[in-house]
Amino acid sequence: MSKITGLTVRTVRVAMTHPHRTAGGIVAESPLVLIDLQTDSGVVGHSMVFTYTPAALRATGELIRNMADLIRDDALAPFEIEAKLSKRFRLLGTQGLVGIAIAAIDMAVWDAFSRQMNKSLVRLLGGVEKPIPAYAGVGFDGAEGSARAASGWVERGFKGVKAKIGYPTVQEDVAVVRAMRKAVGDDVTLMVDYNQSLTPVDAIERLRVLDDEGLAWVEEPTLAHDYEGSAAVARAARTLVQSGENWWGVLDLRHALDAEASDLIMPDVMKIGGVTAWLRAAALAESKGVRMSSHIFPEISAQLLCVTPTAHWLEYIDWWNPVLKNPLRIAQGMTDVTNVIGTGVEWDEAAVARFEV
Ligand SMILES: [Mg+2]
Repeated sequence: MSKITGLTVRTVRVAMTHPHRTAGGIVAESPLVLIDLQTDSGVVGHSMVFTYTPAALRATGELIRNMADLIRDDALAPFEIEAKLSKRFRLLGTQGLVGIAIAAIDMAVWDAFSRQMNKSLVRLLGGVEKPIPAYAGVGFDGAEGSARAASGWVERGFKGVKAKIGYPTVQEDVAVVRAMRKAVGDDVTLMVDYNQSLTPVDAIERLRVLDDEGLAWVEEPTLAHDYEGSAAVARAARTLVQSGENWWGVLDLRHALDAEASDLIMPDVMKIGGVTAWLRAAALAESKGVRMSSHIFPEISAQLLCVTPTAHWLEYIDWWNPVLKNPLRIAQGMTDVTNVIGTGVEWDEAAVARFEV
């Protein structure tokens, strides 16, 4: 079995082709840490993590760089590395930037392991490539802007579109949903995302109005870690509550499931802890019969959903395509992960050089 010999860590700020308007301001770039994990067999594993704000970019890169010494000369065995790093950081805690760093290494180790076997991640995990329905996102763009953006995605073949809402009044939220519905017709699945902006009582009130709009889900109506508040919303609303992108680790997910905080779940492969943790999350979801979708990270998530028993939707984004050699392919609104080696993450080096900081 080959051994890990080192890590190369780079930080990039990737400009977005279409700046993304959110309730918290305009997002115009993606701060990413790119990891290359070297092995003594010559195989290199790749992974990337997203720090949301450039303020956390350098610190996250440095943290990952500092972890190289902890795994040097270790066997390319993802479960062993995950156990070692989780134990090593138990006193500090494995959420936040530490969690991101551990996930970065976990995903790079899985990538190197599958590349060494000359397989895709999904084949390495014993699965087969399956098309998963993908939806795309619309920003905080008002009724007209959201409808226009939704039509654009549907013209590209997507069968689901999710809009950010949480306007000053519920009437404005409804206007966005109706404008989108009118623009895309009845066959397209529509979801909405409040990005944790409401109190439980506000959410219950707004959902009384939104419940008749035929939405597939309402995402993060309230604080992601207020499991009881979210459970109250889920009980009161007919629309299914979706949540998960902000849960750190499998234990958060278990607490949320135990509290019945969400009807549907969508862990983020980075915040949940990488591939190793995703597999455990998928097992928990299956045990409860809860449908599981993904959050951003489309390349690796498209493969993981193929081995997720209750796989539901893939969240599609193209924000990081500029630095990727082979971004995820979508055909007729479905993912296509055929002919991929590893997790599918590989750099366009010329582009990386342009965006590196
Ligand atoms: Mg969301």
